Amino acid sequence: MTKDTESQDNALASQDSSSEQLYPSRVVLTTYPSQHGIEPIPLKWGAETAAERGPVLASRQPDSFGKRNAIGAGGGSYCIYRALAVAIGALGPNHRPDFRLTEPTNKIGPFPSWSDPSKIVSMDPWGHATVEHFSDYLEKGIDVRPTIAITKAHMKLAEIDEAIRNGQLRCDGDVVTEGGELKVVKVASEPVWYLPGVAERFGISEANLRRALFEDTGGMYPELITRPDLKVFLPPIGGLTVYIFGNPDYISDPTKRLTMRVHDECNGSDVFGSDICTCKPYLIYSIEECTREAQSGGVGVVVYFRKEGRALGEVTKYLVYNARKRQEGGDTAANYFKRTEFVAGVKDMRFQALMPDILHWLGVSRIDRFISMSNMKYEAIVNSGIEIVERISIPEDRMPADSKVEIEAKIADGYFTTGQVPTADALQSVKGRNWDEIAH
Ligand SMILES: [Zn+2]
Repeated sequence: MTKDTESQDNALASQDSSSEQLYPSRVVLTTYPSQHGIEPIPLKWGAETAAERGPVLASRQPDSFGKRNAIGAGGGSYCIYRALAVAIGALGPNHRPDFRLTEPTNKIGPFPSWSDPSKIVSMDPWGHATVEHFSDYLEKGIDVRPTIAITKAHMKLAEIDEAIRNGQLRCDGDVVTEGGELKVVKVASEPVWYLPGVAERFGISEANLRRALFEDTGGMYPELITRPDLKVFLPPIGGLTVYIFGNPDYISDPTKRLTMRVHDECNGSDVFGSDICTCKPYLIYSIEECTREAQSGGVGVVVYFRKEGRALGEVTKYLVYNARKRQEGGDTAANYFKRTEFVAGVKDMRFQALMPDILHWLGVSRIDRFISMSNMKYEAIVNSGIEIVERISIPEDRMPADSKVEIEAKIADGYFTTGQVPTADALQSVKGRNWDEIAH
């Protein structure tokens, strides 16, 4: 570090003398590979074993700082809340988690894909195994954190109760309890990006990726620029949850059938029942189908990604809703994607290229029934080497009337359907509810 930057750093720190109680007085704005005391723990992405691969370490705690081998902070988007907790004094900056009794409830893997650096680039395949494989680091005071957790639960849903009442689902005392609860194994995963692999997946250079991540996050992570030796980045974005219905061992067993849905978050529909799209009906239908698959000797998996509003976020989504309803001629399927592009510049930012990583982590080699119409999801999965036998779209009678605009526009854009692909004229006539009717 030069004298100039050091004095700037000290000036920053002295602006608020109270921060000295929490942190050393000198602020380290960034680090450099050749800097004194910087000796990252070796991290060999795609190595055969956890020990050979090494732990992912992003902590800036004193015993870990010089050994960090990852840029960013653990916890996905929640790292900001942790920072706030430290700032208000609710959490010490050097708090160390007590991991006793937190180990996974079910064993998943390891699979050959875990040591294939082209198959998994957006999560840490050993992220659940911190205590099992990296306890020697923890004992030495190195602040390694898990990025995956595996647990078990029962689920109780009104729609499932109704399906049981209607005779569409049965209680078997195993997959569905006598009380109508679904037994699930759940996996939560935070994003861990291996930057060379992510860049390759999108066909861009690592340098371009790192520069864009630096510039377009307001310069949040200078080490993306100053530490080309660090290849792993923990982005401050949402992660994913996997819901497994039936025996998790069957997911990687090619003699067992697998029903799967990959669902991207839509809070308005999934949780609050908004009827402008088909998200919740799809989610519920897939939970039912996964349950039936498990009851007939296979296994069902729902993967839920935190990619709200096609990863454009809810604010953009609502702006688009307004524009759709207000545009001349009303909300038609013909203008569905156009309005999103007017506001966001693109029609979709989910970029499904990273999505199949979780399927490879689960050991999936074939999906017998894939419950989705999305051509982007389908192509991403198939191109990653996983076979999809049958594509299942939502039954017509489960679609809310106002969601027809979305569905018909998607079919015309290439989404999977077993029915007719609408013509341009037909798209003009697929119209959603008049906006004024819902302004109450
Ligand atoms: Zn939706």
